[in-house]
Amino acid sequence: MKRTISSILLGAALCCSSSIWAEKGVKQINPQFLSDEAAKEYLISGGYYENWGEFDIMSRVRRMTTLDSIKLFAQQQVYSWDDSAKESVEESVKQMNEMIQENGYNLPLPANVPFIRTSMREEGGAAAYTRKDGIVMGYRAHYMGVELVAHELFHTLTRNNPKFKKEMYNLIGFKILKKEIEVPVSFKNKIITNPDVEHHNAYATFTINGEKKDCTMYIYSNEEWRGGSFFNYMKIGLVEIDKKKCKAILKDGEPIIHSIEDATDFYDIVGRNTGYVIDPEEILADNFSYIFYGDPSSDLGKSIQKLLKK
Ligand SMILES: [Zn+2]
Repeated sequence: MKRTISSILLGAALCCSSSIWAEKGVKQINPQFLSDEAAKEYLISGGYYENWGEFDIMSRVRRMTTLDSIKLFAQQQVYSWDDSAKESVEESVKQMNEMIQENGYNLPLPANVPFIRTSMREEGGAAAYTRKDGIVMGYRAHYMGVELVAHELFHTLTRNNPKFKKEMYNLIGFKILKKEIEVPVSFKNKIITNPDVEHHNAYATFTINGEKKDCTMYIYSNEEWRGGSFFNYMKIGLVEIDKKKCKAILKDGEPIIHSIEDATDFYDIVGRNTGYVIDPEEILADNFSYIFYGDPSSDLGKSIQKLLKK
């Protein structure tokens, strides 16, 4: 997920067939622009809406309602692709494919990458997000070019390739658990679900009050929804977990949540290459996008390039 277009604008191979994630043998990004009908079906597949809690529903649909109504609302946001928007995306993909070929990057790509266009009302006015193998873009977001497509592509690659995800997350000190991390329903109802973080199974060890604590990251709201985009409510929490039980550690029935500032070594662990530190998935997606757009010369950028050439 990328925040709104305005904030983004302000802020901001042919080899290796024997490589570890080349099983699928797809060596370039093949965009597939879905028709409106196909896009509507694609959006509601994959079980995403089934996992929403109360804050998710209120902040997106404005009232507590049925799953069918939620899905219908998402489908109603589909925008048709026009030639000019398609050409913008195709140009971004062309530039990325040239870089993949020139540098011998090996990505675990699907046969086709579906592209869907929406109003983004279903995701708080985000610029773009992903679903399964597909990239969902706001109706104006095609102007954001390679930076956005590369960022979103990363989410589809980690979602569908656990080995790739594990190795990428290791680069910023995060480990992947075998199961989803359990949290109580009371906390689930405060979570702001990021469509690009489908699996909550990653943690890192941070120093908090002088002690080492295993924590996962959550985006949540401390307040009830009372209008506006969920982006205005976002709090980022380091939630203490019991990594053996894959559960949040509870105190009086609630998770123990620290802020990023509470962890004295947070930025030493995840790096300082992006301000978008809302989840390891987003930190890595930005750093991955720098390989195609921007400056990949940081230590993390070099490590990612090395991994992509494996
Ligand atoms: Zn993202």
